[in-house]
Amino acid sequence: MARVQLIDVKKIYQGKVTAVHDFNLDIADKEFVVFVGPSGCGKSTTLRMVAGLEDISEGECYIDGVLVNDLLPKDRHISMVFQNYALYPHLTVFENMAFPLRLDKSLRTIPWTEEEKAELEAKIKKLEEAGDEKSKAKAEDLKQKLEKGHVVKGYTQDEVFEKVTEAAKVLDITRFLTRKPKALSGGQRQRVAIGRAMVKDCKVFLMDEPLSNLDAKLRNQMRAEIILLRKRINTTFIYVTHDQTEAMTLGDRIVCMRDGFIMQVGTPAQLFDMPDNLFVAQFIGAPMMNTFNTHLLENGGKYSVELFGVKIPVDGEKGKALAEKKIPSQDILLGVRPEHMTLKLKKDASSIPVTIKVSEMMGSEIHVHVLTQDDTKIIVRMPTLNMSEEEKAAIIPGQEVFLSFESKAMHFFNPENEKNLLAGPNAVNSKGPIILPGEKPQEQKEEEAPLCGPEKSEEEK
Ligand code: ADP
Ligand code: MG
Repeated sequence: MARVQLIDVKKIYQGKVTAVHDFNLDIADKEFVVFVGPSGCGKSTTLRMVAGLEDISEGECYIDGVLVNDLLPKDRHISMVFQNYALYPHLTVFENMAFPLRLDKSLRTIPWTEEEKAELEAKIKKLEEAGDEKSKAKAEDLKQKLEKGHVVKGYTQDEVFEKVTEAAKVLDITRFLTRKPKALSGGQRQRVAIGRAMVKDCKVFLMDEPLSNLDAKLRNQMRAEIILLRKRINTTFIYVTHDQTEAMTLGDRIVCMRDGFIMQVGTPAQLFDMPDNLFVAQFIGAPMMNTFNTHLLENGGKYSVELFGVKIPVDGEKGKALAEKKIPSQDILLGVRPEHMTLKLKKDASSIPVTIKVSEMMGSEIHVHVLTQDDTKIIVRMPTLNMSEEEKAAIIPGQEVFLSFESKAMHFFNPENEKNLLAGPNAVNSKGPIILPGEKPQEQKEEEAPLCGPEKSEEEK
């Protein structure tokens, strides 16, 4: 259990490549924080700086109030699970899990057993009864020892047994304890790797893409297990993933990163409902948020957007928020998530005509790709459950249909810096570093040009 603080942390590889810029984050005790972002955005680098596997080039990292910049990984009280969970092939599951405990020869203080306690107390009583100065001093000594606990080197056999069997029980791998890794499936091996990290008492549990090597079905299952595991371990977690679903389902808070910069920190709901910028808006949610190049019109405190000759009023909460911030009329990028749009066969006052290009049947929903009059590509997620046969039959390429959405589904971005017009003053641009009001934008050096390209799938890496 521990609070983790990262203050202006920077990573510069080989004195030139800045992989992480001024990373600031305060993680509460027992919080589950997820770092998410495309491949190469600096997630692993940041995690490895917390673990002590990478030097911190600049800035400070505190674990439980202790500055750890110069501490070795073993002295930071962390446990780590990697994507490539290398298990020892010649050791049983039990011994694989016991390994970190057997390796640990550090001095630890553990509570006395009841018997030891009774024995010590009897000794103290005897010494006190003796009454002379020397015995009194010795009794005092023993009393302190009794209070402090038992100093031992490493873990006893009993402790190893207890910790490994307890972790195995939590992970439901007790029946495999005597097997060797090669006799396990991928998911079972991953559980052993998690178990190996669990057995050590740690203040912070670090996980770097622990599910990336598993197939989709197993990944979903393990994701649910990590939620349960988190409840049982009840410690501070930092979890790295490029998968927004994992981030959304696991995190108390999500740190969305790009090119070594934090783009937004917030709860899953905050990132989904009020993304600070277009990057976060399109990284969180799948398929990604649609955008239209359009104009926001303000008239006497009332707002509307015009799309292909159709004037759509912006009323309700969104209209109120725009008015409160006194947002003037301007060109915008209008964002609407695919699941917040509907397609209809009949036109109504605020729907816009589109043409179906492709439809992807997903079972419970259909992803319909449509084109607007100016060839903007839009994806609409339509649940199939309440769709009529007539509607299903109409979803064919070439069909003209009518697209509509409510104003509460709208997001308004500045087309220049891609910042959400309704985000707070400290929100980050999609196109650059954090710029606080009154601060000059930081210069980007040539070699610091974007470090990450489009998201790569696991196979491409
Ligand atoms: P992520 O985990 O988000 O995919 P990383 O933290 O691994 O990203 O990498 C961030 C950036 O730092 C990338 O551009 C990567 O190429 C670079 N990088 C990572 N490790 C090293 C290294 N040892 N030396 C030089 N550059 C590195
Ligand atoms: Mg990584």
